[in-house]
Order: sequence, then structure tokens, then C-alpha cells
Amino acid sequence: MHAGPVDELLSEAMAPVLRDLRSADVAPPRIEDRDWAGDPDSASVLMWGADGSGVGVYASRSASAPDRVAMVAEQVQDWAIEQLWGRATTNWPACPRHPETHPLRVSVRDGVAVWTCPAGGVAITPVGSV
Ligand SMILES: [Zn+2]
Repeated sequence: MHAGPVDELLSEAMAPVLRDLRSADVAPPRIEDRDWAGDPDSASVLMWGADGSGVGVYASRSASAPDRVAMVAEQVQDWAIEQLWGRATTNWPACPRHPETHPLRVSVRDGVAVWTCPAGGVAITPVGSV
């Protein structure tokens, strides 16, 4: 399989959340440029953890840029929580208001993908600045 550069659109959508991921207690994922989705509207890659487990990540080409960031952030968050499972607290990224209770949840506010507190939906910080 051709191992070219990761799709630019997807790479742009993933950059902020991969930056946030540095705050999580997980080994950085290896991104494999494999278009598993096979859908012209989707850009997709595989993300591999240090334990050898891989998950697919995709973004819709027809979505807006902030929606793509939010879409990817959710998938990377699921991956991170899976990686943390059983060896560390899994609430990544932790809610600064309720660090023991829940992780933040991504949403799009005013055209920006932001991490929000799921209790009340208060925006905490843009994706990419955790
Ligand atoms: Zn909260």
C-alpha cells in the first residue's frame, strides 16, 4: 500500500487534538495513512496505540472545518480513554470544574471546536489548547 502523507484535510483536523493528547498519560499514537473508509466524502487513517491496538479515525470532507475538528476530537478522545482504561483515570481531558466526575465533551460554538463541561455545557477551552 502506498504510504504517502496523511490527507491534508484530515491532518489539519487532527492537529489540535493530537496537541491536546500530549496532556494525556498515553504514548503518542502512530498514525497510519490508510484510507479504510473507502468513501470519497471521508478522509481516514488508522491510529495505533503502544499496545498494538488500532482504531480508525475519519473526517467528513463536506463538513465545516470546526465540525471536522470536533468529529476527530471525539474519536481521538475515545481512543485515549481506551488507552487509559485500567491503568489511569480515564476522564481525559479532565473537566477543570469536576476533575473527579467527567471528562470534557467536544462541541462546536461560534464556529470553533471547544471542549465543554457536560454538566451545563459551559465552554472550557478550544480544542488544541488543553
Ligand atoms: Zn464539568
